Amino acid sequence: MLIEGKPICKRCLLLDIDPDGLYKKVGELISLIPEDTKTPDGEYSRRLEICKSCKNLENGICRECGCFVELRAATKKNYCPSAEHFWAEIE
Ligand code: SF4
Repeated sequence: MLIEGKPICKRCLLLDIDPDGLYKKVGELISLIPEDTKTPDGEYSRRLEICKSCKNLENGICRECGCFVELRAATKKNYCPSAEHFWAEIE
Protein backbone atom coordinates (compact mmCIF):
# COMPACT_ATOMS: atom_id res chain seq x y z
CA MET A 1 0.00 0.00 0.00
CA LEU A 2 1.21 3.49 -0.80
CA ILE A 3 0.39 6.75 0.95
CA GLU A 4 1.72 9.84 -0.81
CA GLY A 5 4.03 7.60 -2.82
CA LYS A 6 5.55 5.95 0.26
CA PRO A 7 5.03 2.26 0.91
CA ILE A 8 3.40 1.34 4.23
CA CYS A 9 2.78 -2.01 5.76
CA LYS A 10 0.96 -3.45 8.76
CA ARG A 11 4.23 -3.32 10.70
CA CYS A 12 4.78 0.39 10.14
CA LEU A 13 4.87 2.78 13.07
CA LEU A 14 2.70 5.89 12.99
CA LEU A 15 5.82 7.84 12.12
CA ASP A 16 5.99 5.91 8.85
CA ILE A 17 2.27 6.07 8.10
CA ASP A 18 1.26 9.63 8.91
CA PRO A 19 4.10 11.84 10.19
CA ASP A 20 2.06 15.06 9.94
CA GLY A 21 -1.27 13.86 11.30
CA LEU A 22 -1.85 11.32 14.01
CA TYR A 23 1.85 10.88 14.74
CA LYS A 24 2.10 14.61 15.41
CA LYS A 25 -0.75 14.35 17.94
CA VAL A 26 0.88 11.34 19.59
CA GLY A 27 4.15 13.28 19.63
CA GLU A 28 2.39 16.11 21.46
CA LEU A 29 1.12 13.63 24.07
CA ILE A 30 4.61 12.18 24.44
CA SER A 31 6.00 15.67 25.00
CA LEU A 32 3.64 16.04 28.00
CA ILE A 33 5.12 13.02 29.80
CA PRO A 34 7.20 14.29 32.75
CA GLU A 35 10.94 13.81 32.18
CA ASP A 36 11.34 11.63 35.27
CA THR A 37 8.83 9.10 33.96
CA LYS A 38 9.82 9.25 30.29
CA THR A 39 11.68 6.31 28.73
CA PRO A 40 15.32 7.15 27.90
CA ASP A 41 15.94 7.55 24.16
CA GLY A 42 17.98 4.36 23.76
CA GLU A 43 15.40 2.21 25.51
CA TYR A 44 12.58 3.89 23.56
CA SER A 45 14.26 3.03 20.25
CA ARG A 46 14.93 -0.53 21.43
CA ARG A 47 11.27 -1.04 22.33
CA LEU A 48 10.05 0.29 19.01
CA GLU A 49 12.46 -1.88 17.05
CA ILE A 50 10.96 -4.89 18.83
CA CYS A 51 7.42 -3.70 18.04
CA LYS A 52 8.32 -3.28 14.37
CA SER A 53 9.04 -6.98 14.09
CA CYS A 54 6.10 -8.08 16.26
CA LYS A 55 3.09 -9.89 14.81
CA ASN A 56 0.82 -7.82 17.06
CA LEU A 57 1.73 -4.45 15.52
CA GLU A 58 -0.88 -3.21 13.09
CA ASN A 59 -0.82 0.30 11.69
CA GLY A 60 1.00 1.70 14.71
CA ILE A 61 -1.32 0.00 17.20
CA CYS A 62 -0.59 -2.99 19.43
CA ARG A 63 -3.36 -5.55 19.00
CA GLU A 64 -2.70 -6.87 22.52
CA CYS A 65 -3.65 -3.65 24.29
CA GLY A 66 -4.97 -1.25 21.66
CA CYS A 67 -2.30 1.36 22.44
CA PHE A 68 -0.30 3.37 19.96
CA VAL A 69 3.05 1.69 20.57
CA GLU A 70 4.99 4.94 20.16
CA LEU A 71 2.99 6.39 23.06
CA ARG A 72 3.04 3.26 25.23
CA ALA A 73 6.79 2.83 24.80
CA ALA A 74 7.45 6.43 25.87
CA THR A 75 6.64 5.85 29.55
CA LYS A 76 9.43 4.06 31.41
CA LYS A 77 7.19 1.95 33.68
CA ASN A 78 5.07 0.62 30.80
CA TYR A 79 5.66 -2.92 29.66
CA CYS A 80 4.89 -4.98 26.61
CA PRO A 81 1.39 -6.40 27.21
CA SER A 82 2.12 -9.68 25.46
CA ALA A 83 2.45 -12.82 27.59
CA GLU A 84 5.92 -13.12 26.05
CA HIS A 85 6.93 -9.68 27.47
CA PHE A 86 8.85 -8.82 24.33
CA TRP A 87 10.39 -5.63 25.77
CA ALA A 88 11.92 -7.43 28.75
CA GLU A 89 15.67 -6.93 28.86
CA ILE A 90 17.76 -10.03 28.33
CA GLU A 91 20.46 -10.32 30.99
S1 SF4 B 1 2.89 -7.07 21.86
FE1 SF4 B 1 4.60 -5.87 22.71
S2 SF4 B 1 6.20 -5.91 21.12
FE2 SF4 B 1 4.24 -6.50 20.18
S3 SF4 B 1 3.38 -4.61 19.33
FE3 SF4 B 1 2.51 -4.91 21.38
S4 SF4 B 1 3.88 -3.72 22.73
FE4 SF4 B 1 4.96 -4.04 20.81
